Amino acid sequence: MGSIIKNRYLILRRISQLTILFLYFAANYWGLKILMGNLSFSKLFNTIPLTDPYAFLQMLFAGAVISSDLIIGVVIILLFYGLIGGRAYCSWVCPVNMITDFAAWVRRKTHHEKDNLINATKIRNFRYVFMVMMLIVSTVVGAAAFEFISPIGMFTRAVAFTLGFSWVWLLVIFIFDAFVLKNGWCGHICPVGAMYSIVGSKSIIRVWHNKDNCTACGECLKICPENQVLSPVIDKKSDYISGIECTNCGRCIEVCNDNALEFTLRYIINKKGENNEKTATN
Ligand code: SF4
Ligand code: SF4
Repeated sequence: MGSIIKNRYLILRRISQLTILFLYFAANYWGLKILMGNLSFSKLFNTIPLTDPYAFLQMLFAGAVISSDLIIGVVIILLFYGLIGGRAYCSWVCPVNMITDFAAWVRRKTHHEKDNLINATKIRNFRYVFMVMMLIVSTVVGAAAFEFISPIGMFTRAVAFTLGFSWVWLLVIFIFDAFVLKNGWCGHICPVGAMYSIVGSKSIIRVWHNKDNCTACGECLKICPENQVLSPVIDKKSDYISGIECTNCGRCIEVCNDNALEFTLRYIINKKGENNEKTATN
């Protein structure tokens, strides 16, 4: 029971990711009309369109005909992640996260988490360059270019349509993350994650760090897949984790044994004011 509570966000994230995959599978095999399509374009209850913003942009750049459903779908997703969820798509929805988390776990268990065959710090922002590159390629080829190689689409197709060859690309991602570059795909390359970082940069849900409780043990920094968002704050100041690449996965909160981290609602709950009051009364 203790470990369920300790890993509550991890368990909820896996339930969320697997439920979404199951619903795509059920739509394809049994005609269940709860969530139909794929992670680029879905329909909820056969009525509400949901469009991935990066897939939408690729279609725009490719000169495709944009239907009203696609526009409504992208507005819904932009409002949800832009106002509320931040980059939560990456840790709560995207199935590839299960593979990359597994690769990170293998790295930790085999004690070579810092061994990279590529200089990680130099290419952290490559994902933004790649995001733009794929839009240019979409314009040139007249099709949504990243969709052809996207492991996200492949994962969904592999499960929903049981396409065997899609697993090969997913295995490549696993090997890359586990043995070539720590958090290589999601933390350095994936343009969809880069897009959601930008979309969710001002969202309400944020991790709050309370410096008064922090013992500088560094457990959060070890587990975080984007630990460059934690390092400016941990053991330095009480503040929100405002780095746009935070995926709101909640792992840092779960591994912190000192209650120094928690989810909170930026703009709505004024944690900064609360902290100033504490300092004044001490
Ligand atoms: S970075 Fe890309 S592959 Fe990774 S979780 Fe986010 S969308 Fe999925
Ligand atoms: S800061 Fe915490 S919630 Fe954000 S990505 Fe890192 S571990 Fe996840």
